[in-house]
Amino acid sequence: MFSHFSYLLEFYALGFFNLKNDCLLMVSLTFYGGAGEIGGNKILLQDKTAKIYLDFGQEFNFGEDYFYEYLQPRQANGLEVYFEFGLLPEVPKLYSKKMLERTKLKYQKPDIDAVILTHVHSDHIGHLPFLDEGIPLYMGHGTHKLTEIYHKLYPSFSNIGTHEKINHFSSGEKFKIKHLEVEPIHVEHSAPGAYGFIIKTSKGNIVYTGDFRIHGPRADMTEEFIKKAKEAKPYALICEGTRMESEGEHNFTEKEVEERVSGIVSESRGLVFGYFSMSNIDRFMSFYNAALENKRKLVIDTRLAYVIQQMREKIPVLPDPIKDRNIRVYYRLAKSCTFAEKDYSVWERDFMGNMVTFEEIKKNPEEYLMHLNFNRLIELVYLQPKDADFIYSSSEHFLEGEGNEEEKKRWVAWMKHFGIKFHKAHCSGHASKQDLEYVIKEINPEVLIPVHTNVPEEFKKFHSNVLIPKKGERLEL
Ligand SMILES: [Zn+2]
Ligand SMILES: [Zn+2]
Repeated sequence: MFSHFSYLLEFYALGFFNLKNDCLLMVSLTFYGGAGEIGGNKILLQDKTAKIYLDFGQEFNFGEDYFYEYLQPRQANGLEVYFEFGLLPEVPKLYSKKMLERTKLKYQKPDIDAVILTHVHSDHIGHLPFLDEGIPLYMGHGTHKLTEIYHKLYPSFSNIGTHEKINHFSSGEKFKIKHLEVEPIHVEHSAPGAYGFIIKTSKGNIVYTGDFRIHGPRADMTEEFIKKAKEAKPYALICEGTRMESEGEHNFTEKEVEERVSGIVSESRGLVFGYFSMSNIDRFMSFYNAALENKRKLVIDTRLAYVIQQMREKIPVLPDPIKDRNIRVYYRLAKSCTFAEKDYSVWERDFMGNMVTFEEIKKNPEEYLMHLNFNRLIELVYLQPKDADFIYSSSEHFLEGEGNEEEKKRWVAWMKHFGIKFHKAHCSGHASKQDLEYVIKEINPEVLIPVHTNVPEEFKKFHSNVLIPKKGERLEL
């Protein structure tokens, strides 16, 4: 009898303890990246026994205090160099056995239930190769597709590592991770297939914006996200603020970029070059449309042709680089200097029916608008352009063409050497300050948490309860 009673006592005590423990285990957010900096988002959300990461990216200034150009840590070797300089947090039960081999951190089976990813940019997915293979990843179809395309084109430096479970989601399709319900909703950004999330936690809904803008051709997607986030009456809003500093500048729209490109092309008497990121599908379309409006052909290299061709599966409105006669695919001189099939990789050969070479372009340069990457500047030597124009149109993230000083110096030198007129036409992949204010006021959370920004304090102008996260610190909600 006595023993039974004590058993009961123990049982209740245990039950009580668990209950109490549950209450103690509040919802918390730990910011291993993306706090007080633009990019590198790596946010651990804990609620009861559920542990999920929101994004797992690499900071833009990652390791720059110690590493430069060819002096770089080798990802494949493991985490020892990264831990030495505190470049990645020494968190147990997170990294793969292989990555921890030569470190002091002992390998233990992971306790992370999921890593959910907003979009393909490296500042959101760049550190995936370090993760334990068994941790399930969740990403949009488009993001997964883009990682595969890049890996094919750049196997050595575009790699998400090995993962046993990659789950795909679509906009509005909720999924569960333990008791947490996650609703992904598409947003517009400078990479296709970007999402924000509404996560139902025991503290209420937590909304995470990822990266977004509201001034491109698919602003309707972001508007849908804002509407659903507002309806969710969230407790917390984790909001990006890349352009919180953008006060006073004109917020160029993608439409305006297209018009500007079109205007430059219409005034040019020679060949027009343009540079934009290969993942920026909206920008590709702006250049494509500008070429059409001016009855020119858009020239793209085999890599960009491959990206567009592969993305057509997800974005059917994209033109087909194999067949579309408004597009020409540029083949550079290779080994045999004869443009023979064997000179090119198998994946490059698909576009040969739509081939253009420097010789053909040279004959009628005024018929073309040509995409030109930095590492393809050599082509200018063959093209020998006269009266040409160049449009710098990169909107890649916070750099947005301003940070790459070393690259820029060479762009300018090459343009000067060939007497090419330099223009700029770009719009950001991120919401303007004014749009951020609109989003915050519209969603109206109880608590606002700024991420992906250099100026988190600025958020206080738009909300009375701002929690500013610090890198590596845990925020209890
Ligand atoms: Zn970002
Ligand atoms: Zn981004």
